[in-house]
Amino acid sequence: MIAEVIIDISNDDVDRIFDYDAGGDIKIGSRVKVSFLNRKMQGYVINLKEKSDFDGKLKSIEEVLDEGIIGNEFLRLMDFMTAKYNLRKIDALHLFLPPNMRDGKIGELKRKFVELNPEISYDDMVCALQKRGKRQLELVETLSSEGEYLSTITALYGSTVKTLIKKGFLIVAKKAVRREPKTSFETPKPEFELTDTQKKCMDEILRGGSFLLHGVTGSGKTEVYMRVIENVIKNGKSAVMLVPEISLTAQFYKLFKDRFFDNVAIIHSGLSAGERFDEWMRVLNGEASIVIGARSAIFAPLNDIGVIIIDEEHDGSYISESNPRYDAKEIAAFRAKYNGAALVFGSATPSIETYYDMKKGAYKLLSMPERVNNRCMPEIEIVDMCREIRAGNTGLLSGRLDEELSKTLAEGNQAMIYLNRRGYSSFVMCRACGYVAKCSECDISLTYHKDDDILKCHYCGKKFFMISQCPECGSKNLRYGKTGTEKVVGEINRLFPKARVLRMDNDTTRGKDGHDKILGAFAKKEADILVGTQMIAKGHDFPNVTLVGILDADMSLYFSDYRSNERTFQLMTQVAGRAGREKKSGAVILQTYAPGHYVFKLARRYDFESFYQKEINSREVTKYPPFTVIVRVLVTGEEDAAAMGVVRKIYNGIKEYAKESQSFAYLNAMRSPITRIQNKYRYQILMRIRNDENKDGVIQRIYALADVEKIKNTTVFTEINPQSLV
Ligand code: ADP
Ligand code: ZN
Ligand code: ZN
Repeated sequence: MIAEVIIDISNDDVDRIFDYDAGGDIKIGSRVKVSFLNRKMQGYVINLKEKSDFDGKLKSIEEVLDEGIIGNEFLRLMDFMTAKYNLRKIDALHLFLPPNMRDGKIGELKRKFVELNPEISYDDMVCALQKRGKRQLELVETLSSEGEYLSTITALYGSTVKTLIKKGFLIVAKKAVRREPKTSFETPKPEFELTDTQKKCMDEILRGGSFLLHGVTGSGKTEVYMRVIENVIKNGKSAVMLVPEISLTAQFYKLFKDRFFDNVAIIHSGLSAGERFDEWMRVLNGEASIVIGARSAIFAPLNDIGVIIIDEEHDGSYISESNPRYDAKEIAAFRAKYNGAALVFGSATPSIETYYDMKKGAYKLLSMPERVNNRCMPEIEIVDMCREIRAGNTGLLSGRLDEELSKTLAEGNQAMIYLNRRGYSSFVMCRACGYVAKCSECDISLTYHKDDDILKCHYCGKKFFMISQCPECGSKNLRYGKTGTEKVVGEINRLFPKARVLRMDNDTTRGKDGHDKILGAFAKKEADILVGTQMIAKGHDFPNVTLVGILDADMSLYFSDYRSNERTFQLMTQVAGRAGREKKSGAVILQTYAPGHYVFKLARRYDFESFYQKEINSREVTKYPPFTVIVRVLVTGEEDAAAMGVVRKIYNGIKEYAKESQSFAYLNAMRSPITRIQNKYRYQILMRIRNDENKDGVIQRIYALADVEKIKNTTVFTEINPQSLV
């Protein structure tokens, strides 16, 4: 047999199939050791065949490391992804295995255990120990009922264990232990009767197909997901559910564990390598048939999937923006089809594209227009910040928000304050000469972080000393840019000195379990106010939150992105949805400088349908998705001129093609809005392609045209509908 092997090197020149002599039996999908260019390398067998077209003598596979570890479904998925996203095969394969498994750096965790020596009968031991120490007897009794003990726990008994080992009553054994992801969440939920609407949705999903579950925040979508999964599991199938943020996985994990126990595995990049390995193995071995996780969990090695659920389907985090680029929703659709599973996209604010596809018949619509138990949607009050300024209030909080916060605190309830900007201020500028502190690696102004008294680049993470005077002119008259979460916390501490405030953003959630600690503390009412970025907007279910404040709601409105209206509408609805989820009713104060904007007016009425109509009409007129597909070729390089040369070459090729093609609605090449990130210059070619039956062919052609001769230190990426265009 001849094995077709993909070598484990991410390099375009090696992104081919190499033939090896498989010798005897070998399984497709095995991870193997081979000799490649006189080096020992790992590879993956992706196919077997009788004959090779290679003329010389084939080398043999040296060792099978993991037999058939990559299943047939994933080999097909690899083909799908390499074609659709223009990926290297090896980069796709890497997504299917836990990191570190490939280089053998991680495996099972073995711990020492003590257990009773099976060669001595329990009665003999008891007899022998009767008159001796009570503790020894006690330990033998415990071990006989509980079987084994982690050696760390034996610290409790210390010398007793040692004595018993010496006597030969105990033996030490090494065993694999599971590195179980922890959660500090305490949200025990009672089982309740499904409402009629919930039941209808569940029944529909169980009949199979693709669905858009459009349910307002608090309508009980999660409960529908859980009941669907419960039924799917009963039928011997498996299930996977994606949530958009790592911070949300903990909450869902707890919820699911309470109901499904160890049948649930959790997979996301915030786990330790060991935890990730163990969870992944439990799924592979069939010990867990329900997977919860963020984007990468879509690759969980589940067999015979019955349902795939993507909660908050509109969320941008389902798209991987760096290599390997992919859209988890498209992977979900592939896997649903392969497994014959039901596919559920859920959201309170579906993406315009999904809603459009639903109207075209791609998904069946399931509606949950009301909150459970007749709870009301929280009232959104729009506050005009221009008027506040005219009235002499230049603070961060409007009079109304200040008032409502006092009330909330006095009543012992909790509040969430949302501002989608971290740090203290968005830039530092010299009032005298206009100097702005910028990153040395990126063409971007630095954000001031007061807690650490440093300037930070939000693109590359580099840190700089804070300046006390202008390095250009020496003036000490510095001006701070737009307010970030740090400053909000400072202001709230000043106004409400007794309130306990937590902050949740990229800076405070760095470490492992960082999200979990903050959310857990807030859930346990260890804080009264949670200030945060969009991290706090999504899905969290805190029963005591009765007030939500939205600061600078306009922020996402003025991005030069066709999605800015959509994103603003989604964010406002999501953030508002955090209030009044249990018996207590909720209020939302939305602060804006554009109170008359239709996005706020419609968000205030929770009128998704009207918003959709307005938005889809304008997309059609302006030729934006879903009527077109945006394609971006991004060229980055250490040398400006070289990068520009590459982009020009590609652009010329595409321009020629566009002349003869009917598919282009727009084509242009330019410097990227941020011209340099991490010392690499950035150029982009932007295209909008008609979204019709020709589009796949056109995209393939663009991939080929972008695939020009490689220049050192210059990279080219082609992206379809990128989330951000910086
Ligand atoms: P969504 O995911 O749609 O925002 P959730 O599933 O979180 O909404 O439900 C909101 C709240 O209502 C939760 O606290 C949940 O426990 C509760 N809930 C859900 N279904 C029911 C039901 N059938 N009866 C009573 N309470 C329910
Ligand atoms: Zn200056
Ligand atoms: Zn930088």
